[in-house]
Formats: sequence, structure tokens, C-alpha cells
Amino acid sequence: MSVDRRTAWPYDEDGEPGEFVYQRYAHPTGAAAEEALGRLEGGEALLFGSGTTAVTACVLAFCTPGTKVALAAGAYFGTGLTLRAFEPWGLAVVEFDQTDAPPADADVVWIEAPTNPLLTLPDWDAVRASNGLVVCDATASTPVFLKPLDEGADISLHSATKYLTGHHDALLGAIVTRDPAKRQRLAEVRMRFGLSAAPDAAAALLHGLDTLEVRVRRQAETAAELARRLSEHPAVIRVRYPGVGGLVSFDVADDAVRRVETGTELIANMTSLGGVRSTMESRHRWEGDRIPRGLLRLSVGLEDVEELWHDLDAALQRTYS
Ligand code: PLP
Repeated sequence: MSVDRRTAWPYDEDGEPGEFVYQRYAHPTGAAAEEALGRLEGGEALLFGSGTTAVTACVLAFCTPGTKVALAAGAYFGTGLTLRAFEPWGLAVVEFDQTDAPPADADVVWIEAPTNPLLTLPDWDAVRASNGLVVCDATASTPVFLKPLDEGADISLHSATKYLTGHHDALLGAIVTRDPAKRQRLAEVRMRFGLSAAPDAAAALLHGLDTLEVRVRRQAETAAELARRLSEHPAVIRVRYPGVGGLVSFDVADDAVRRVETGTELIANMTSLGGVRSTMESRHRWEGDRIPRGLLRLSVGLEDVEELWHDLDAALQRTYS
């Protein structure tokens, strides 16, 4: 598919603006990708410049000074930092354990399914019983394993930088909702604040969606097997695997973390997740003491399970040296 990178389109013969006017408002590749994602997730999708931009758009669209946001403890730490960056404008941010009920007075209930990297899942019954606007970050589960709008969320949010594009080559965010008024508000905010996605990133989403289902099912299958083997490995203290998706977090001794994460060859020691190539890193380096020092987050790619296990096992052997 050719990508239309124009930033502006001519008016029609009567001098009237057509469907596409100026790239910041909307563009053909973005519209096609939004259509595809919306169909997949059962709502109307809007693309944003990144997952973080999508978080920002939610605040600008749905919060005012005094709004209380209850954020799932252990949610992507960057989301917490972004939300708290609005505290000078009157946003109140509290954390809650999403395996339990959210605070009754929350205006916005912000869950992550599963949280990255602690991999807890929300209590959907409790979430549905809350009065607040429910935002679900479904980055790590993808619409293949979770359709948040079907579960009762008002807003489904993705860092499409991860599984949805899937190749570590596009920065992109997405929001899906069924409420036309919310979609309209988000589109206004995107245009007004310039939170738009680039056409090339939207094209990467179209490509990514073509293979999403086979990629993430295979990644999840491999992740479940690696989680099982890791839980039996003598160098591994604890394994977190939520039963869905391609992320596995496991703990080794604190002083062995660096040796393990630098000891793999097939698995790249780098940040981010959701790509076809496996990646692994210590999250303590970024998040500090909210994350166990010995925790490693593994994002399982499409490599052969035996080769991945061989690589992990060789790196874990270094904990004994
Ligand atoms: N949500 C989750 C669960 C994430 O893991 C990330 C990034 O790691 C984000 C949101 C932010 O997305 P982006 O890096 O595309 O801004």
C-alpha cells in the first residue's frame, strides 16, 4: 500500500474542503488503519502519536481540575508519570490494587490488562460496578485476548508501538470507544493539541494487523511454555505469567540480574515489548523500588521455543558463576 504523506489536500471544484484537509486533523492512511482497528475491537478507533500521547489525550478530553483518577498499582510507570504531570493543573491521582475494587469516589478508573511488568489482571466485576469512566490499557493483551469494550470499559487504549505494529519500527497510540460523543471529543483534542499519528506509523499498523492474530497466539504459546520451564529452574525465584499474552516476568537473585540480562544472545537486552524479536530487561533500572530488583521482563517474540529456552538457560547458568 502506498502511503499518502501529504500534509494538505486541495479543496474541490467548488472550493469546498473534502474528506481530508490537513494532516493534523486526519489523513487517508490513518483513517484506513482506524477503520481496521475499530472493526477488530468493536468500536471506533482514533490514532495518536504514541501510547503516551493517547494517555495525554484522555486527560485533556475527560478530566478537569479536581478529577480523581484511580490508577491500577503497577501499571506502566510512564502512565503514572504522565498522569501525575497534570497534578499542577488539579488532577488527583491515587493508586489502587486492580485485583480488588477501585475507590468508590474515583471519576476515572484506569486499569491495565495485564499491568506491565507485574502482570496483574483487573477484577472486571468490580470495575463494572464502579461509577467512574473506565479506561483500560490493553497494550499487553491486544484485541486477540481482550476486547475491553466488551468487558465494560468505556475506553480501550493501546501503545500500538508494541504488539499492534509488532516490529519495533513505529511509535503509535490508539484509543477505541463506542460512544460517538467521546470519540468526537478525543478527535477535537487530537486536532487542537496536535497529538496526531504520522502516516508511516499508521501504515505500520495496517501491516501489523494483517499478522496480529498469528503473531500473538504464537507468542503467547511460547511464553506459557517458557514460564512453565522458568518456574522449574533453580535460579528463578518467582515467575509471573497471567495466562495470556507474550510477556513473562521472572525474578532472579538481585545481584545476578545484570549477568542474566546481558547473558542472552538471541534475546536482545533492550527496552520495549511486543515485537517479533524477543527482548528482555531489568525494569528496576527505570522504575526503582516499586519493582523488585531481581525482576526481568521478557517479551517473547517469534523465535523457536527451544532456541529461546537454550538462550535463557545459558544466561541463567551465569547466576551460579
Ligand atoms: N502503556 C503501556 C502498557 C506501555 O507498556 C507503554 C510503553 O511501554 C505505554 C502505554 C506508552 O506507550 P508509548 O511508548 O507508545 O508512548
